[in-house]
Amino acid sequence: MPIPRVRNPTRPLHGSAAAPRRARMMAAPQAASFIRALAEANPAPETELLYADPFTLLVAVVLSAQATDASVNRATPALFAAAPTPEAMATLGAEGIGPFIRRIGLWQGKARNVAALSRLLVERHAGQVPADRAALEALPGVGRKTANVVLNVAFGEEAMAVDTHIFRIGNRTGLAPGRTVREVEDRLVARCPPELLRQAHHWLILHGRYVCKARAPECWRCPAIGYCNYRDKVLTPGG
Ligand code: SF4
Repeated sequence: MPIPRVRNPTRPLHGSAAAPRRARMMAAPQAASFIRALAEANPAPETELLYADPFTLLVAVVLSAQATDASVNRATPALFAAAPTPEAMATLGAEGIGPFIRRIGLWQGKARNVAALSRLLVERHAGQVPADRAALEALPGVGRKTANVVLNVAFGEEAMAVDTHIFRIGNRTGLAPGRTVREVEDRLVARCPPELLRQAHHWLILHGRYVCKARAPECWRCPAIGYCNYRDKVLTPGG
């Protein structure tokens, strides 16, 4: 019989709902300094998804829901070589897309969505990805977060895509506390220095992915530690 894994009860569940202490909300200047510190540490952030144009970006973001960018990047070069346009992807269809993305979580539903959204792009938008939130969110598999990524990365809009990392950072650090993704998004947009808003979601996603991690944040190497209100900082590796 397998031995159940138990958490050390003396250590906090960093960033989880059961984390013992809530962070105080940052003052507005402190929040701006927090984001500036991330910006200075990584002046040219970029999405880690591989894409060539708005269409391949849209497909990659749809495929990345509840999956890692690395798993998507392993699948998409061959998929995009086989079907680089909405017309070609619609022709490939869900049955043809499936074999390319079988190693990505929830692949069957994603194959159906990518085929369907490609058909709609051809039928409604002349094969172009619309630079319009409502039109994007009307596509299968495209929610507010995906639309925000496409609007930001493909069309240069100051949209804040809140994923699991950004939601955690917003609440854990006091940068933008909120009970819902939308609350965190709205608070971040309101508090981010305007000149940094275009890039801010990249800084925050990368920070959450590599430094302010879910189970154990690596505060000892965090460029924003001086502005963070998290009260259970991990100050040494393994601490
Ligand atoms: S100090 Fe720690 S908890 Fe705060 S932002 Fe940095 S890594 Fe995250």
